[in-house]
Amino acid sequence: MFKPAMAVSVRTASVACGVTSLLVCAVIFIAPGCQTAPVTQRPQLLMTTEEKESTLGLAAYKEVIEKEPLTKNERYVEMVKRVGNRIAAVADRPDFKWEFNVIESETQNAFCLPGGKVAVYTGMLPVCESEAGLAVVMSHEVAHAIARHGGERMSHQTVQNLGKSAVGYVMKNQEEQKQKMVLTAYGAASEYGAILPYSRKHEMEADHIGIILMAKAGYDPSEAPVFWERFSTAKGSAAPMEFMSTHPSDARRASTLRELLPEAMKTYENSGEKYGLGEQIP
Ligand SMILES: [Zn+2]
Repeated sequence: MFKPAMAVSVRTASVACGVTSLLVCAVIFIAPGCQTAPVTQRPQLLMTTEEKESTLGLAAYKEVIEKEPLTKNERYVEMVKRVGNRIAAVADRPDFKWEFNVIESETQNAFCLPGGKVAVYTGMLPVCESEAGLAVVMSHEVAHAIARHGGERMSHQTVQNLGKSAVGYVMKNQEEQKQKMVLTAYGAASEYGAILPYSRKHEMEADHIGIILMAKAGYDPSEAPVFWERFSTAKGSAAPMEFMSTHPSDARRASTLRELLPEAMKTYENSGEKYGLGEQIP
């Protein structure tokens, strides 16, 4: 009489055990090891490899660039490439295949996908006002990518899905879905209507890494808090973007960036060539 019940409970127990060991395996064997974010040295849980993230990033980027109209504004293109290359030169990622494009769209957005694939929307440029303002935006996006914030978000998603449905989620997932996941995870999916805000922790960290990067690249870091103050009054009713969907208020992030200014100014003073605010953007 007890046997069937026992058999069921043993089976349930072994399934539960299986899920647990799968999770443990996933964390131990899929994770490439203990990882820390650059600049802040925060420890991270990462269950994907950088190679995989870069492959997905590249494929997703190709799709966006083919689908979206690129701007014909030569001046914008030249400026985004110039600022981007200066940031890339100090980002300490010689393995990234950097690429910078400008998408013709009123959306106030910008993103950097794993592997160094960057896009800025034309709607973002007037509010930047200068090369240094553009450097604030681009170094913030590059920071999300070099700190693998999207990879962390995908890893958390994978852990949740493993917990929920145990087996097969990662295996069954189609390549196309994974590309969408990358776009969403890096705040690049605004055109697809599926933007996912970064956590407050990731935003603050991207601000911190970003202000150091722009200073190293030779742009005056005191523009960072000024940009956020200006942006908070300018954004109004434009389409949702990576920056607008964030938790820290712009006033709060401006004051946090001001606290980081002494560190950033020291970096700026030690940087090679200095461009100050750079060229103005009409
Ligand atoms: Zn961000």
